[in-house]
Amino acid sequence: MANQDFLNEINKRRTFAIISHPDAGKTTITEKVLLFGRAIQTAGTVKGRGSAQHAKSDWMEMEKERGISVTTSVMQFPFNDRLVNLLDTPGHEDFSEDTYRTLTAVDSCLMVIDAAKGVEDRTRKLMEVTRLRDTPIVTFMNKLDRDIRDPMEVMDEVETELNMLCAPITWPIGCGKEFKGVYHLHRDEVILYQTGQGHTIQDVKTIKGIDNPEIDAAVGDELAATLRDEVELVQGASSEFDLELFLSGELTPVYFGTALGNFGVDHMLEGLTEWAPAPMSRASKDREVAASEEKFTGFVFKIQANMDPKHRDRIAFMRIVSGKYQKGMKMRHVRLGKDIAVSDAVTFMAGDRSAAEEAFAGDIIGLHNHGTIQIGDTFSQGEELKFTGIPNFAPEMFRRIRLKDPLKQKQLLKGLVQLSEEGAVQVFRPLRNNDLIVGAVGVLQFEVVTARLKTEYKVEAIYESISVATARWVGSENTTKMNEFEKKAYDNLALDGGDNLTYIAPTMVNLNLATERYPDVEFRKTREH
Ligand code: GDP
Repeated sequence: MANQDFLNEINKRRTFAIISHPDAGKTTITEKVLLFGRAIQTAGTVKGRGSAQHAKSDWMEMEKERGISVTTSVMQFPFNDRLVNLLDTPGHEDFSEDTYRTLTAVDSCLMVIDAAKGVEDRTRKLMEVTRLRDTPIVTFMNKLDRDIRDPMEVMDEVETELNMLCAPITWPIGCGKEFKGVYHLHRDEVILYQTGQGHTIQDVKTIKGIDNPEIDAAVGDELAATLRDEVELVQGASSEFDLELFLSGELTPVYFGTALGNFGVDHMLEGLTEWAPAPMSRASKDREVAASEEKFTGFVFKIQANMDPKHRDRIAFMRIVSGKYQKGMKMRHVRLGKDIAVSDAVTFMAGDRSAAEEAFAGDIIGLHNHGTIQIGDTFSQGEELKFTGIPNFAPEMFRRIRLKDPLKQKQLLKGLVQLSEEGAVQVFRPLRNNDLIVGAVGVLQFEVVTARLKTEYKVEAIYESISVATARWVGSENTTKMNEFEKKAYDNLALDGGDNLTYIAPTMVNLNLATERYPDVEFRKTREH
């Protein structure tokens, strides 16, 4: 492949994820995005929780029963002259760790806001994570077919609460029953909304020019007058789109529409694919690695079990940072210092798993993992690289886990360590006794763990409550102080699944006292893989 072709392949890729508060419409918009990407023929196939399509990404009955997406999947589709990778993130709060890590693997995000509600909790929290890397954000104000709040007010809220300028690209004409469409500020064109067209790509009716009397005929004199007033106001008062500010995460282009009514999603996709960055460079311990480098590199951000119930395998999701993957190529598993030939990586064309012949920087590939791959692992073509920035978060809930059959202790430990390597849960082994403490960010993780221990490791485990408030990873540059601390705080110390020393605090007061008492020791809330 000529060098220019190689660069073209990389430059046409756009890899993004959707962040939103539950119920804002992420699932619905994903489905519509896939519809426009021609990845599905009619909408409804992804949404149907029991449908075959959805079952593909389910790995547990539990997930289907509860209707929550525990898994992260990847969907690739072409749009205009771009190739889009959409990384799905579990919406349920209990799996926020997976979501956070997935955000390290994308170059931009779509923020979906329920325009009747405005900025909600979970969006706020996820935005904090995207801020760590100044990820560019495109905004979609959803549910315009309902009575929404004043759009100006919602944009204000985004600006003040999320600290990001808003540049409206489209502007709504009415809302709720009176929703008539949007005015596209860049194209100077009204695009009319038609109801009852939610499942297919609709023929678009447009009217050129804000002063065009056809607008009055189409939406009524009153709405047309309001639109002209508002557009004048918006053009004067709000920010204009600025590519540089967008790319540095300081400004977000804003689109209005209804995902359910399949209106406005295409405008958003056009903006996103045009403006969102092509695959970006990533920091490694020693240097920045550019996507255009010819040598292959990548990092694992997620491990998922049982994608296909017939093969009880685990898939390690790898973001390709640079170069190109080719079927059969050799790559180095840097942590193990081992070269492996990979002939069966999977790609994710529209939810289907198919053997990938090749994949480029920006793409996600799945490696079959038999327990040797961990979250955060770097792969290269020989170079001793270590990508940074894939976080572990201090869990907020703890339980002691105990076996029904005490003879299977070894099996239990093995299962827990593997599950912690996958990021499904965190495990802590206190230095002073043989307890096994399981830590999670969300309560549902506990159930997933016992269910998986049973099916995958054939051990039946139960939980007991334990008074632990929080955990912190500890370390110090000062070995003398650290040794002293280890002796004195022995009763509170534990090893996590990767043998990292942690401080287990029974109460927050205890933690505060400890941090005051040992100023030379660092108590970290996150740990990088
Ligand atoms: P998620 O939790 O963010 O994935 O949200 P869903 O896509 O599952 O949507 C939550 C609910 O809002 C569902 O009942 C959707 O049908 C509904 N919904 C999504 N988009 C719209 C919209 O544009 N208008 C209206 N009226 N409802 C919507």
